Amino acid sequence: MPTTQSYDAIIVGAGFAGLYMLHRLRRLGMRAQVYEAGSDVGGTWYWNRYPGARCDVESMQYSYSFDDALQQEWSWSERFASQPEILRYAGHVADRLDLRRDIQFDTRVTSAHFDAKRALWQVATDRGDRVTARFCVMATGCLSAARLPEIPGRDSFAGPTYHTGAWPHEGVDFTGRRVAVIGTGSSAIQAIPVIARQAAHVTVFQRTPNFSIPSRNAPMDAEYENWWKSDYAAHRAKARAMRTGILYGLNDKSALEVSEEERQAEYERRWANGGTAFMGAFSDLITNRQANDTAAEFVRNKIRGMVRDPKVAEILAPKSHPIGTKRICVDTEYYETFNRPNVALVDVAATPIEAITPAGVRTAAGEVAVDDIVFATGFDAMTGALAAIEIRGRDGIDLAAKWAEGPRTYLGLMSAGFPNLFMITGPGSPSVLSNMIVSIEQHVDWLTDCIAHLRARGLDTIEPTQEAEDGWVAHGNEVAHRTLYPSAASWYMGANIPGKPRVFLPYIGGVGVYREKCDAIAAAGYEGFRLGGQNQAAAAE
Ligand code: NAP
Repeated sequence: MPTTQSYDAIIVGAGFAGLYMLHRLRRLGMRAQVYEAGSDVGGTWYWNRYPGARCDVESMQYSYSFDDALQQEWSWSERFASQPEILRYAGHVADRLDLRRDIQFDTRVTSAHFDAKRALWQVATDRGDRVTARFCVMATGCLSAARLPEIPGRDSFAGPTYHTGAWPHEGVDFTGRRVAVIGTGSSAIQAIPVIARQAAHVTVFQRTPNFSIPSRNAPMDAEYENWWKSDYAAHRAKARAMRTGILYGLNDKSALEVSEEERQAEYERRWANGGTAFMGAFSDLITNRQANDTAAEFVRNKIRGMVRDPKVAEILAPKSHPIGTKRICVDTEYYETFNRPNVALVDVAATPIEAITPAGVRTAAGEVAVDDIVFATGFDAMTGALAAIEIRGRDGIDLAAKWAEGPRTYLGLMSAGFPNLFMITGPGSPSVLSNMIVSIEQHVDWLTDCIAHLRARGLDTIEPTQEAEDGWVAHGNEVAHRTLYPSAASWYMGANIPGKPRVFLPYIGGVGVYREKCDAIAAAGYEGFRLGGQNQAAAAE
Protein backbone atom coordinates (compact mmCIF):
# COMPACT_ATOMS: atom_id res chain seq x y z
CA MET A 1 0.00 0.00 0.00
CA PRO A 2 1.47 3.38 -0.99
CA THR A 3 1.93 5.65 1.99
CA THR A 4 1.80 9.39 2.62
CA GLN A 5 3.63 9.21 5.93
CA SER A 6 6.13 11.47 7.47
CA TYR A 7 9.43 10.12 8.79
CA ASP A 8 12.51 11.51 10.44
CA ALA A 9 14.65 10.04 7.67
CA ILE A 10 14.33 8.29 4.35
CA ILE A 11 17.14 5.99 3.34
CA VAL A 12 17.43 4.99 -0.30
CA GLY A 13 18.96 1.54 -0.72
CA ALA A 14 19.30 -1.54 1.50
CA GLY A 15 22.87 -2.53 0.73
CA PHE A 16 25.56 -2.43 3.38
CA ALA A 17 25.24 1.37 3.62
CA GLY A 18 21.47 1.49 3.97
CA LEU A 19 21.34 -1.36 6.48
CA TYR A 20 23.87 0.19 8.81
CA MET A 21 22.33 3.66 8.44
CA LEU A 22 18.95 2.30 9.44
CA HIS A 23 20.45 0.59 12.47
CA ARG A 24 22.22 3.75 13.63
CA LEU A 25 19.24 6.05 13.12
CA ARG A 26 16.99 3.69 15.02
CA ARG A 27 19.46 3.81 17.88
CA LEU A 28 19.07 7.60 17.86
CA GLY A 29 15.37 7.01 18.36
CA MET A 30 14.50 8.19 14.87
CA ARG A 31 11.80 6.87 12.58
CA ALA A 32 13.53 5.89 9.40
CA GLN A 33 12.13 4.23 6.31
CA VAL A 34 14.25 2.45 3.71
CA TYR A 35 13.21 2.05 0.08
CA GLU A 36 14.96 -0.66 -1.91
CA ALA A 37 14.54 -1.49 -5.60
CA GLY A 38 15.45 -5.16 -5.10
CA SER A 39 13.30 -7.76 -3.40
CA ASP A 40 15.75 -8.24 -0.56
CA VAL A 41 18.75 -6.67 1.16
CA GLY A 42 22.33 -6.83 -0.12
CA GLY A 43 22.65 -4.07 -2.73
CA THR A 44 25.48 -4.84 -5.12
CA TRP A 45 25.57 -8.43 -3.85
CA TYR A 46 21.87 -8.79 -4.53
CA TRP A 47 22.25 -7.80 -8.20
CA ASN A 48 25.70 -9.10 -9.19
CA ARG A 49 25.03 -12.84 -9.22
CA TYR A 50 27.10 -13.66 -12.29
CA PRO A 51 29.14 -16.88 -12.21
CA GLY A 52 32.34 -16.43 -10.24
CA ALA A 53 31.23 -13.23 -8.47
CA ARG A 54 33.40 -12.80 -5.44
CA CYS A 55 34.78 -9.97 -3.34
CA ASP A 56 38.43 -9.14 -3.77
CA VAL A 57 38.80 -7.68 -0.32
CA GLU A 58 39.58 -10.55 2.03
CA SER A 59 36.49 -11.76 3.85
CA MET A 60 37.98 -11.20 7.31
CA GLN A 61 38.05 -7.51 6.39
CA TYR A 62 34.93 -7.27 4.22
CA SER A 63 32.38 -7.23 7.00
CA TYR A 64 30.91 -4.83 9.53
CA SER A 65 33.05 -3.94 12.51
CA PHE A 66 30.48 -2.06 14.59
CA ASP A 67 29.26 -5.05 16.57
CA ASP A 68 31.84 -7.33 18.12
CA ALA A 69 29.39 -10.18 18.74
CA LEU A 70 28.42 -10.07 15.07
CA GLN A 71 31.99 -10.22 13.80
CA GLN A 72 32.88 -12.97 16.25
CA GLU A 73 29.92 -15.21 15.50
CA TRP A 74 30.10 -15.06 11.71
CA SER A 75 32.46 -17.48 9.97
CA TRP A 76 33.60 -17.00 6.41
CA SER A 77 34.31 -20.19 4.52
CA GLU A 78 36.91 -18.82 2.10
CA ARG A 79 39.74 -16.30 2.02
CA PHE A 80 37.71 -14.28 -0.52
CA ALA A 81 33.98 -14.66 -0.01
CA SER A 82 31.70 -15.58 -2.89
CA GLN A 83 28.64 -13.51 -3.77
CA PRO A 84 26.14 -16.03 -2.29
CA GLU A 85 27.99 -16.06 1.01
CA ILE A 86 28.15 -12.26 1.22
CA LEU A 87 24.45 -12.09 0.41
CA ARG A 88 23.76 -14.59 3.22
CA TYR A 89 25.79 -12.38 5.53
CA ALA A 90 23.76 -9.28 4.58
CA GLY A 91 20.58 -11.29 5.25
CA HIS A 92 21.95 -12.48 8.57
CA VAL A 93 22.66 -8.90 9.65
CA ALA A 94 19.18 -7.79 8.57
CA ASP A 95 17.61 -10.61 10.60
CA ARG A 96 19.80 -10.15 13.62
CA LEU A 97 19.05 -6.43 13.85
CA ASP A 98 15.44 -6.91 12.75
CA LEU A 99 15.93 -4.41 9.95
CA ARG A 100 13.48 -5.68 7.35
CA ARG A 101 10.39 -4.28 9.07
CA ASP A 102 11.51 -0.77 8.10
CA ILE A 103 12.48 -1.63 4.53
CA GLN A 104 10.01 -1.45 1.66
CA PHE A 105 11.33 -3.72 -1.10
CA ASP A 106 10.59 -3.69 -4.84
CA THR A 107 10.33 0.06 -4.63
CA ARG A 108 12.37 2.63 -6.50
CA VAL A 109 12.62 6.20 -5.30
CA THR A 110 11.83 8.39 -8.30
CA SER A 111 12.16 11.89 -6.86
CA ALA A 112 13.27 13.80 -3.81
CA HIS A 113 12.35 17.48 -3.56
CA PHE A 114 13.36 19.84 -0.78
CA ASP A 115 10.57 21.91 0.70
CA ALA A 116 12.52 24.86 2.10
CA LYS A 117 9.56 26.34 4.00
CA ARG A 118 9.18 23.25 6.13
CA ALA A 119 12.80 22.09 5.84
CA LEU A 120 11.56 18.69 4.72
CA TRP A 121 12.34 16.34 1.87
CA GLN A 122 9.36 15.14 -0.16
CA VAL A 123 10.13 11.73 -1.53
CA ALA A 124 8.16 9.85 -4.18
CA THR A 125 8.46 6.23 -5.28
CA ASP A 126 7.40 4.22 -8.31
CA ARG A 127 4.85 2.48 -6.09
CA GLY A 128 2.98 5.70 -5.43
CA ASP A 129 4.42 6.48 -1.99
CA ARG A 130 4.53 10.21 -1.20
CA VAL A 131 6.39 10.72 2.05
CA THR A 132 8.22 13.49 3.83
CA ALA A 133 11.31 13.38 6.00
CA ARG A 134 13.71 15.81 7.57
CA PHE A 135 16.72 13.86 6.33
CA CYS A 136 17.26 11.99 3.12
CA VAL A 137 20.17 9.56 2.91
CA MET A 138 21.25 8.28 -0.48
CA ALA A 139 22.72 4.83 0.18
CA THR A 140 22.44 4.10 -3.52
CA GLY A 141 25.83 2.51 -4.12
CA CYS A 142 28.73 3.51 -6.34
CA LEU A 143 28.36 0.78 -8.95
CA SER A 144 24.65 0.16 -9.12
CA ALA A 145 23.52 1.72 -12.40
CA ALA A 146 24.31 -1.11 -14.83
CA ARG A 147 25.19 0.09 -18.29
CA LEU A 148 24.61 -1.47 -21.69
CA PRO A 149 26.78 -0.04 -24.47
CA GLU A 150 25.21 1.71 -27.43
CA ILE A 151 26.11 -0.88 -30.06
CA PRO A 152 24.06 -0.75 -33.29
CA GLY A 153 21.55 -3.59 -33.44
CA ARG A 154 21.97 -4.32 -29.72
CA ASP A 155 18.35 -5.23 -29.27
CA SER A 156 18.11 -7.27 -32.47
CA PHE A 157 19.94 -10.30 -31.05
CA ALA A 158 17.70 -13.36 -31.25
CA GLY A 159 19.02 -15.14 -28.15
CA PRO A 160 19.13 -14.23 -24.47
CA THR A 161 21.36 -11.40 -23.26
CA TYR A 162 22.60 -10.84 -19.72
CA HIS A 163 24.31 -8.02 -17.83
CA THR A 164 26.67 -9.13 -15.06
CA GLY A 165 25.21 -6.43 -12.81
CA ALA A 166 21.61 -7.63 -13.21
CA TRP A 167 22.04 -11.38 -13.37
CA PRO A 168 18.97 -13.68 -13.29
CA HIS A 169 18.34 -14.99 -9.80
CA GLU A 170 17.68 -18.49 -11.02
CA GLY A 171 21.14 -18.61 -12.63
CA VAL A 172 21.98 -19.39 -16.24
CA ASP A 173 22.90 -22.81 -17.62
CA PHE A 174 25.41 -22.32 -20.44
CA THR A 175 25.89 -26.05 -21.06
CA GLY A 176 26.34 -26.74 -24.76
CA ARG A 177 26.02 -23.07 -25.70
CA ARG A 178 28.16 -20.61 -27.62
CA VAL A 179 28.59 -17.52 -25.49
CA ALA A 180 29.90 -14.03 -26.27
CA VAL A 181 31.29 -12.03 -23.37
CA ILE A 182 31.68 -8.32 -24.09
CA GLY A 183 34.06 -6.56 -21.72
CA THR A 184 37.13 -7.55 -19.72
CA GLY A 185 36.80 -5.63 -16.43
CA SER A 186 36.66 -7.17 -12.93
CA SER A 187 33.26 -8.78 -13.54
CA ALA A 188 34.24 -10.41 -16.84
CA ILE A 189 37.57 -11.55 -15.45
CA GLN A 190 35.75 -13.43 -12.70
CA ALA A 191 32.95 -14.74 -14.92
CA ILE A 192 34.88 -15.90 -18.01
CA PRO A 193 36.77 -18.84 -16.41
CA VAL A 194 33.57 -20.17 -14.84
CA ILE A 195 31.46 -19.78 -17.97
CA ALA A 196 34.23 -21.36 -20.08
CA ARG A 197 34.15 -24.50 -17.93
CA GLN A 198 30.45 -24.95 -18.70
CA ALA A 199 29.80 -23.55 -22.16
CA ALA A 200 30.54 -25.23 -25.49
CA HIS A 201 32.43 -22.15 -26.63
CA VAL A 202 33.19 -18.67 -25.32
CA THR A 203 34.27 -15.69 -27.41
CA VAL A 204 35.67 -12.82 -25.38
CA PHE A 205 35.43 -9.35 -26.92
CA GLN A 206 38.17 -7.27 -25.35
CA ARG A 207 38.55 -3.56 -25.99
CA THR A 208 41.08 -2.73 -23.27
CA PRO A 209 43.04 -5.44 -21.48
CA ASN A 210 43.24 -5.17 -17.70
CA PHE A 211 45.91 -6.11 -15.21
CA SER A 212 44.75 -8.98 -13.04
CA ILE A 213 46.44 -10.58 -10.06
CA PRO A 214 45.68 -14.17 -9.03
CA SER A 215 43.50 -14.29 -5.92
CA ARG A 216 45.00 -17.49 -4.45
CA ASN A 217 41.57 -17.98 -2.99
CA ALA A 218 41.35 -20.95 -0.64
CA PRO A 219 39.20 -22.31 2.18
CA MET A 220 39.51 -20.12 5.26
CA ASP A 221 42.61 -20.89 7.24
CA ALA A 222 41.55 -21.48 10.85
CA GLU A 223 44.70 -19.96 12.25
CA TYR A 224 44.30 -16.84 10.14
CA GLU A 225 40.67 -16.46 11.17
CA ASN A 226 41.70 -16.83 14.77
CA TRP A 227 44.42 -14.21 14.38
CA TRP A 228 41.80 -11.71 13.22
CA LYS A 229 39.18 -12.66 15.76
CA SER A 230 41.54 -12.72 18.72
CA ASP A 231 42.13 -8.97 18.35
CA TYR A 232 39.57 -7.80 15.83
CA ALA A 233 39.26 -4.31 17.29
CA ALA A 234 42.97 -3.56 17.04
CA HIS A 235 43.28 -4.97 13.51
CA ARG A 236 40.25 -3.02 12.34
CA ALA A 237 41.65 0.16 13.86
CA LYS A 238 44.83 -0.30 11.85
CA ALA A 239 42.86 -0.98 8.67
CA ARG A 240 40.86 2.23 9.16
CA ALA A 241 44.06 4.22 9.14
CA MET A 242 45.32 2.70 5.88
CA ARG A 243 45.02 4.40 2.51
CA THR A 244 42.62 1.76 1.23
CA GLY A 245 40.99 0.79 4.52
CA ILE A 246 42.48 -2.65 4.05
CA LEU A 247 45.12 -4.03 6.35
CA TYR A 248 48.02 -5.35 4.36
CA GLY A 249 51.76 -4.92 4.24
CA LEU A 250 52.81 -1.72 2.52
CA ASN A 251 56.41 -1.37 1.50
CA ASP A 252 57.59 2.18 2.06
CA LYS A 253 60.48 1.87 -0.36
CA SER A 254 60.46 3.26 -3.89
CA ALA A 255 60.54 0.67 -6.66
CA LEU A 256 63.46 2.61 -8.09
CA GLU A 257 65.67 2.62 -5.01
CA VAL A 258 66.09 -1.15 -4.81
CA SER A 259 68.09 -3.55 -6.95
CA GLU A 260 66.47 -5.43 -9.83
CA GLU A 261 66.72 -8.67 -7.76
CA GLU A 262 65.00 -7.13 -4.74
CA ARG A 263 62.30 -5.61 -6.94
CA GLN A 264 61.52 -8.87 -8.70
CA ALA A 265 61.59 -10.78 -5.40
CA GLU A 266 59.04 -8.37 -3.91
CA TYR A 267 56.75 -8.69 -6.91
CA GLU A 268 57.13 -12.49 -6.91
CA ARG A 269 56.28 -12.66 -3.22
CA ARG A 270 53.13 -10.58 -3.66
CA TRP A 271 52.15 -12.44 -6.84
CA ALA A 272 52.44 -15.70 -4.90
CA ASN A 273 50.35 -14.27 -2.03
CA GLY A 274 47.67 -13.04 -4.40
CA GLY A 275 45.16 -10.19 -4.32
CA THR A 276 45.28 -6.43 -4.52
CA ALA A 277 48.12 -6.20 -1.98
CA PHE A 278 50.31 -6.54 -5.06
CA MET A 279 49.98 -2.77 -5.50
CA GLY A 280 51.55 -2.24 -2.07
CA ALA A 281 54.85 -3.67 -3.32
CA PHE A 282 56.41 -0.22 -3.46
CA SER A 283 55.40 3.21 -2.26
CA ASP A 284 55.51 5.00 -5.61
CA LEU A 285 53.66 2.66 -7.96
CA ILE A 286 50.75 5.04 -8.42
CA THR A 287 52.74 8.24 -8.46
CA ASN A 288 55.81 7.52 -10.58
CA ARG A 289 55.48 6.22 -14.12
CA GLN A 290 58.93 4.67 -14.17
CA ALA A 291 58.26 2.81 -10.94
CA ASN A 292 54.85 1.76 -12.22
CA ASP A 293 56.39 0.41 -15.43
CA THR A 294 58.43 -2.10 -13.43
CA ALA A 295 55.27 -3.57 -11.86
CA ALA A 296 53.35 -3.44 -15.14
CA GLU A 297 56.11 -5.25 -17.00
CA PHE A 298 56.29 -7.88 -14.26
CA VAL A 299 52.59 -8.66 -14.73
CA ARG A 300 52.87 -8.57 -18.53
CA ASN A 301 55.66 -11.14 -18.30
CA LYS A 302 53.49 -13.31 -16.05
CA ILE A 303 50.74 -13.15 -18.68
CA ARG A 304 53.25 -14.12 -21.36
CA GLY A 305 54.26 -17.06 -19.19
CA MET A 306 50.71 -18.27 -18.59
CA VAL A 307 49.16 -17.90 -22.05
CA ARG A 308 50.53 -20.41 -24.53
CA ASP A 309 49.74 -18.56 -27.78
CA PRO A 310 52.14 -15.59 -27.86
CA LYS A 311 49.76 -13.56 -30.06
CA VAL A 312 46.92 -14.03 -27.60
CA ALA A 313 49.25 -13.23 -24.70
CA GLU A 314 50.25 -9.91 -26.31
CA ILE A 315 46.61 -8.96 -26.82
CA LEU A 316 45.91 -9.76 -23.16
CA ALA A 317 48.94 -7.84 -21.87
CA PRO A 318 47.87 -4.27 -21.02
CA LYS A 319 50.04 -1.51 -22.43
CA SER A 320 47.71 1.46 -22.69
CA HIS A 321 47.53 2.45 -19.02
CA PRO A 322 49.72 2.28 -15.92
CA ILE A 323 48.98 -0.68 -13.66
CA GLY A 324 46.46 0.20 -10.95
CA THR A 325 45.08 3.31 -12.68
CA LYS A 326 42.13 1.28 -13.90
CA ARG A 327 40.72 -0.83 -11.09
CA ILE A 328 43.16 -3.70 -10.57
CA CYS A 329 41.41 -7.05 -11.09
CA VAL A 330 41.73 -10.23 -9.07
CA ASP A 331 41.09 -13.57 -10.70
CA THR A 332 41.09 -17.32 -10.51
CA GLU A 333 42.69 -18.80 -13.63
CA TYR A 334 41.67 -15.94 -15.91
CA TYR A 335 44.69 -15.88 -18.19
CA GLU A 336 44.99 -19.69 -18.23
CA THR A 337 41.42 -19.84 -19.52
CA PHE A 338 42.69 -18.56 -22.87
CA ASN A 339 44.65 -21.82 -23.27
CA ARG A 340 41.36 -23.73 -23.45
CA PRO A 341 40.35 -24.96 -26.92
CA ASN A 342 36.82 -23.62 -26.41
CA VAL A 343 37.85 -20.01 -25.72
CA ALA A 344 38.63 -17.37 -28.34
CA LEU A 345 39.71 -13.76 -27.91
CA VAL A 346 38.67 -10.96 -30.25
CA ASP A 347 40.71 -7.78 -30.02
CA VAL A 348 38.02 -5.15 -30.33
CA ALA A 349 40.61 -2.38 -30.23
CA ALA A 350 41.99 -3.68 -33.54
CA THR A 351 38.70 -4.82 -35.05
CA PRO A 352 35.90 -2.81 -33.40
CA ILE A 353 32.44 -4.19 -32.83
CA GLU A 354 30.33 -2.87 -35.70
CA ALA A 355 27.00 -4.33 -34.74
CA ILE A 356 25.09 -6.93 -32.85
CA THR A 357 23.08 -8.99 -35.29
CA PRO A 358 20.26 -11.47 -34.68
CA ALA A 359 22.89 -14.23 -34.91
CA GLY A 360 25.77 -12.77 -32.91
CA VAL A 361 28.43 -10.08 -32.83
CA ARG A 362 29.92 -8.54 -35.96
CA THR A 363 33.33 -6.91 -35.86
CA ALA A 364 35.53 -5.51 -38.61
CA ALA A 365 37.00 -9.04 -38.78
CA GLY A 366 33.68 -10.79 -39.38
CA GLU A 367 30.65 -12.13 -37.56
CA VAL A 368 30.84 -14.48 -34.59
CA ALA A 369 27.67 -16.54 -34.25
CA VAL A 370 26.61 -17.13 -30.63
CA ASP A 371 23.63 -18.34 -28.63
CA ASP A 372 23.99 -15.95 -25.67
CA ILE A 373 25.57 -12.55 -25.07
CA VAL A 374 26.93 -11.55 -21.68
CA PHE A 375 27.43 -7.82 -21.27
CA ALA A 376 30.15 -7.32 -18.67
CA THR A 377 30.17 -3.67 -19.61
CA GLY A 378 30.11 -2.01 -16.23
CA PHE A 379 28.22 0.83 -14.63
CA ASP A 380 27.51 4.52 -14.74
CA ALA A 381 29.75 4.74 -11.70
CA MET A 382 29.31 6.96 -8.67
CA THR A 383 26.81 9.40 -10.16
CA GLY A 384 24.52 7.13 -12.23
CA ALA A 385 22.25 5.97 -9.41
CA LEU A 386 21.82 9.52 -8.11
CA ALA A 387 21.16 10.91 -11.58
CA ALA A 388 18.37 8.35 -12.01
CA ILE A 389 16.43 10.09 -9.21
CA GLU A 390 15.03 13.57 -9.76
CA ILE A 391 16.69 15.39 -6.87
CA ARG A 392 15.75 19.03 -6.39
CA GLY A 393 17.19 21.14 -3.63
CA ARG A 394 16.73 24.77 -2.62
CA ASP A 395 14.98 26.93 -5.25
CA GLY A 396 14.25 23.82 -7.30
CA ILE A 397 17.91 23.40 -8.25
CA ASP A 398 18.40 20.03 -9.95
CA LEU A 399 21.30 17.87 -8.75
CA ALA A 400 21.99 16.32 -12.16
CA ALA A 401 22.04 19.79 -13.75
CA LYS A 402 24.32 21.12 -11.02
CA TRP A 403 26.66 18.21 -11.70
CA ALA A 404 26.59 18.51 -15.49
CA GLU A 405 30.31 19.32 -15.53
CA GLY A 406 31.11 16.70 -12.89
CA PRO A 407 29.91 16.02 -9.35
CA ARG A 408 30.45 18.77 -6.78
CA THR A 409 30.36 17.80 -3.13
CA TYR A 410 31.83 18.69 0.21
CA LEU A 411 33.61 15.57 1.51
CA GLY A 412 31.54 13.40 -0.84
CA LEU A 413 28.85 13.65 1.83
CA MET A 414 26.72 16.61 0.77
CA SER A 415 26.27 19.10 -2.04
CA ALA A 416 25.61 22.83 -1.55
CA GLY A 417 21.97 23.75 -2.14
CA PHE A 418 20.74 20.36 -0.91
CA PRO A 419 20.24 20.69 2.86
CA ASN A 420 19.92 17.45 4.83
CA LEU A 421 20.60 15.33 1.73
CA PHE A 422 23.43 12.96 2.49
CA MET A 423 25.33 10.58 0.27
CA ILE A 424 27.01 7.51 1.67
CA THR A 425 30.33 7.04 -0.12
CA GLY A 426 29.42 9.76 -2.60
CA PRO A 427 31.72 11.17 -5.28
CA GLY A 428 34.53 13.09 -3.63
CA SER A 429 34.98 10.50 -0.87
CA PRO A 430 37.43 7.55 -0.90
CA SER A 431 34.58 5.13 -1.68
CA VAL A 432 35.57 2.89 -4.59
CA LEU A 433 39.28 3.32 -3.86
CA SER A 434 38.76 1.63 -0.52
CA ASN A 435 37.28 -1.29 1.32
CA MET A 436 33.66 -0.21 0.84
CA ILE A 437 32.48 -1.45 4.21
CA VAL A 438 35.14 0.54 6.04
CA SER A 439 34.15 3.67 4.13
CA ILE A 440 30.46 3.00 4.63
CA GLU A 441 30.87 2.63 8.38
CA GLN A 442 32.91 5.82 8.55
CA HIS A 443 30.27 7.83 6.67
CA VAL A 444 27.35 6.38 8.59
CA ASP A 445 29.08 6.99 11.93
CA TRP A 446 29.97 10.56 10.99
CA LEU A 447 26.48 11.22 9.76
CA THR A 448 24.85 9.75 12.84
CA ASP A 449 26.99 11.98 15.06
CA CYS A 450 26.12 14.95 12.87
CA ILE A 451 22.38 14.33 13.10
CA ALA A 452 22.67 13.80 16.86
CA HIS A 453 24.53 17.11 17.07
CA LEU A 454 21.74 18.91 15.21
CA ARG A 455 19.03 17.34 17.33
CA ALA A 456 20.79 18.10 20.59
CA ARG A 457 20.84 21.78 19.62
CA GLY A 458 17.34 21.95 18.22
CA LEU A 459 18.68 22.57 14.72
CA ASP A 460 16.93 21.35 11.61
CA THR A 461 19.30 21.71 8.73
CA ILE A 462 22.87 21.27 7.67
CA GLU A 463 24.28 22.22 4.31
CA PRO A 464 27.78 22.82 3.02
CA THR A 465 28.78 26.35 2.09
CA GLN A 466 29.61 26.98 -1.55
CA GLU A 467 33.09 27.97 -0.51
CA ALA A 468 33.73 24.72 1.38
CA GLU A 469 32.45 22.69 -1.54
CA ASP A 470 34.59 24.58 -4.06
CA GLY A 471 37.61 24.07 -1.82
CA TRP A 472 36.96 20.34 -1.52
CA VAL A 473 36.49 19.87 -5.26
CA ALA A 474 39.73 21.75 -5.93
CA HIS A 475 41.56 19.72 -3.28
CA GLY A 476 40.22 16.44 -4.71
CA ASN A 477 41.41 17.36 -8.20
CA GLU A 478 44.75 18.52 -6.95
CA VAL A 479 45.41 15.27 -5.05
CA ALA A 480 44.23 13.13 -7.96
CA HIS A 481 46.56 14.89 -10.37
CA ARG A 482 49.52 14.11 -8.16
CA THR A 483 48.99 10.48 -9.17
CA LEU A 484 48.98 8.53 -12.41
CA TYR A 485 45.24 7.79 -12.14
CA PRO A 486 43.98 10.58 -14.42
CA SER A 487 46.15 9.24 -17.26
CA ALA A 488 43.85 6.22 -17.75
CA ALA A 489 40.51 6.30 -19.54
CA SER A 490 38.78 4.61 -16.60
CA TRP A 491 35.35 4.66 -15.03
CA TYR A 492 37.04 6.49 -12.12
CA MET A 493 37.30 9.35 -14.66
CA GLY A 494 33.82 8.85 -16.10
CA ALA A 495 35.52 7.77 -19.32
CA ASN A 496 33.35 4.67 -19.85
CA ILE A 497 30.23 6.73 -20.49
CA PRO A 498 30.14 8.71 -23.75
CA GLY A 499 29.63 12.38 -22.91
CA LYS A 500 30.28 12.00 -19.16
CA PRO A 501 32.66 14.74 -17.95
CA ARG A 502 36.23 13.57 -17.36
CA VAL A 503 36.57 14.26 -13.67
CA PHE A 504 38.30 11.99 -11.17
CA LEU A 505 35.31 10.84 -9.12
CA PRO A 506 36.60 9.37 -5.84
CA TYR A 507 38.88 11.08 -3.31
CA ILE A 508 42.36 9.66 -3.51
CA GLY A 509 43.86 11.20 -0.38
CA GLY A 510 43.39 7.91 1.48
CA VAL A 511 40.87 6.54 3.95
CA GLY A 512 42.95 7.34 7.05
CA VAL A 513 43.69 10.92 6.01
CA TYR A 514 40.11 11.48 4.92
CA ARG A 515 38.76 10.19 8.24
CA GLU A 516 40.98 12.63 10.12
CA LYS A 517 39.72 15.50 7.98
CA CYS A 518 36.07 14.55 8.57
CA ASP A 519 36.63 14.23 12.31
CA ALA A 520 38.47 17.54 12.53
CA ILE A 521 35.66 19.27 10.62
CA ALA A 522 33.07 17.86 13.03
CA ALA A 523 35.18 18.74 16.07
CA ALA A 524 35.42 22.33 14.83
CA GLY A 525 31.61 22.62 14.93
CA TYR A 526 31.06 21.31 11.40
CA GLU A 527 33.40 23.69 9.68
CA GLY A 528 32.35 24.48 6.14
CA PHE A 529 28.74 23.61 6.87
CA ARG A 530 25.88 25.99 7.58
CA LEU A 531 23.67 24.74 10.41
CA GLY A 532 20.23 26.18 10.79
CA GLY A 533 16.87 26.05 12.50
CA GLN A 534 13.60 25.80 10.65
CA ASN A 535 13.18 29.56 10.63
CA GLN A 536 16.58 30.11 9.15
CA ALA A 537 15.77 27.49 6.50
CA ALA A 538 12.64 29.38 5.53
CA ALA A 539 14.39 32.74 5.66
CA ALA A 540 17.15 31.48 3.40
CA GLU A 541 14.58 30.48 0.81
P1 NAP B 1 34.17 -2.25 -15.93
O1 NAP B 1 35.38 -2.38 -15.11
O2 NAP B 1 33.66 -0.89 -16.25
O3 NAP B 1 34.43 -3.06 -17.26
C1 NAP B 1 33.59 -2.94 -18.38
C2 NAP B 1 34.24 -3.62 -19.54
O4 NAP B 1 33.35 -3.53 -20.65
C3 NAP B 1 35.55 -2.98 -19.96
O5 NAP B 1 36.43 -3.97 -20.35
C4 NAP B 1 35.12 -2.10 -21.12
O6 NAP B 1 36.15 -1.82 -22.03
C5 NAP B 1 34.08 -3.00 -21.76
N1 NAP B 1 33.18 -2.28 -22.63
C6 NAP B 1 32.28 -1.33 -22.29
N2 NAP B 1 31.64 -0.90 -23.38
C7 NAP B 1 32.13 -1.59 -24.42
C8 NAP B 1 31.88 -1.60 -25.82
N3 NAP B 1 30.98 -0.78 -26.37
N4 NAP B 1 32.58 -2.45 -26.60
C9 NAP B 1 33.50 -3.27 -26.05
N5 NAP B 1 33.78 -3.32 -24.75
C10 NAP B 1 33.11 -2.48 -23.94
O7 NAP B 1 32.92 -3.05 -15.28
P2 NAP B 1 32.94 -4.30 -14.29
O8 NAP B 1 33.84 -5.34 -14.78
O9 NAP B 1 31.52 -4.64 -14.04
O10 NAP B 1 33.58 -3.72 -12.98
C11 NAP B 1 33.16 -2.49 -12.44
C12 NAP B 1 33.72 -2.32 -11.06
O11 NAP B 1 32.95 -3.09 -10.14
C13 NAP B 1 35.13 -2.84 -10.87
O12 NAP B 1 36.09 -1.99 -11.38
C14 NAP B 1 35.16 -3.01 -9.36
O13 NAP B 1 35.33 -1.79 -8.72
C15 NAP B 1 33.78 -3.54 -9.10
N6 NAP B 1 33.82 -5.00 -9.10
C16 NAP B 1 34.47 -5.59 -8.07
C17 NAP B 1 34.58 -6.95 -8.04
C18 NAP B 1 35.30 -7.57 -6.90
O14 NAP B 1 35.36 -7.07 -5.81
N7 NAP B 1 35.89 -8.68 -7.13
C19 NAP B 1 34.04 -7.72 -9.04
C20 NAP B 1 33.37 -7.10 -10.08
C21 NAP B 1 33.27 -5.72 -10.10
P3 NAP B 1 37.02 -0.45 -21.87
O15 NAP B 1 37.90 -0.68 -20.69
O16 NAP B 1 37.72 -0.33 -23.15
O17 NAP B 1 36.02 0.66 -21.62
